[in-house]
Amino acid sequence: MTAFPRTPALMPQISELADGQHYPTSALYVVATPIGNVADITVRALHVLGLVDRVAAEDTRNTAHLLTRYGISKPLIAVHEHNERSAAERVIEHLRNGERIACVSDAGTPGISDPGARLVDAVREAGLPVVPLPGASALTTALCAAGAFVGDFSFVGFLPTKAKQRASELTKLAHHPMALVFYEAPHRIVDTTRALADAFGGERQLLIARELTKLHESLHRCTLAEGPTWLEADANRQRGEFVLVVEGAPKTEDAEDAHDALLSTLLEELSVKSAARVAATLTGASRNVLYERALKLARRGESTDE
Ligand code: SAM
Repeated sequence: MTAFPRTPALMPQISELADGQHYPTSALYVVATPIGNVADITVRALHVLGLVDRVAAEDTRNTAHLLTRYGISKPLIAVHEHNERSAAERVIEHLRNGERIACVSDAGTPGISDPGARLVDAVREAGLPVVPLPGASALTTALCAAGAFVGDFSFVGFLPTKAKQRASELTKLAHHPMALVFYEAPHRIVDTTRALADAFGGERQLLIARELTKLHESLHRCTLAEGPTWLEADANRQRGEFVLVVEGAPKTEDAEDAHDALLSTLLEELSVKSAARVAATLTGASRNVLYERALKLARRGESTDE
């Protein structure tokens, strides 16, 4: 018993949706492919992959394997990080001969933390059309299930791998008002979440999106302070591919008001130093900043007592 017709041969009426459109020759088609689940490909992407004369691929072996799963076989050109400019010349030559060429990366949307952007530039500079075909990306997949703490967002992608450079990059982002989206590899996931908590404080919301669209998909929402502990509690939580979504910096006035209220309560019982220490533990904010603030509040309190 077939619950759903098979792609593409048994779906003529759906194939027609893509078939009826115009696909110019001498054009580069930028095609998104799945980020894990092989079924996450659009009807138009399948149609174009079937139509083009060749496919420019980040890794030709991966792409050949993927195309086979859709019953498609095409000549492939390797276009990766290290040869994008020179390979672009070959692609342009084929396009000038009237071919249609698809550009795909290993997974998801080309140009999003993946090769593709330089090829797009070169084709456009050559005066030839670039046609984008939307589809899967780890960025949008994580964001669509992140929840309301996101609102506006900025995409950062991969942070520097060296701890010092990563910390300095994060310091620059600490007051960014929008949610931030990071990509990360499994062997750095704990260090990176810890670095995020160090740079931004522990209070902000964090989404740890792992193995999206795959068998072991998991989406865990917690605070930045809780993130590294949660990951370390089970080695399986550190396996696979990750997107991290971090809440944007609180509006300075809101955060300051909340810290002032907490410090004022603590100062009723504690010294300035202890109040700052306890507030830093509770909020994850910088102890030095809280100390300066507590000092001001204590002095203000003294002057109103007189
Ligand atoms: N072009 C891709 C896109 O559109 O998302 C991104 C390619 S980038 C080289 C690979 C990174 O994307 C991974 O290290 C991971 O951070 C993220 N990623 C890709 N697939 C993922 C998945 N299924 N689940 C979670 N993150 C994923």
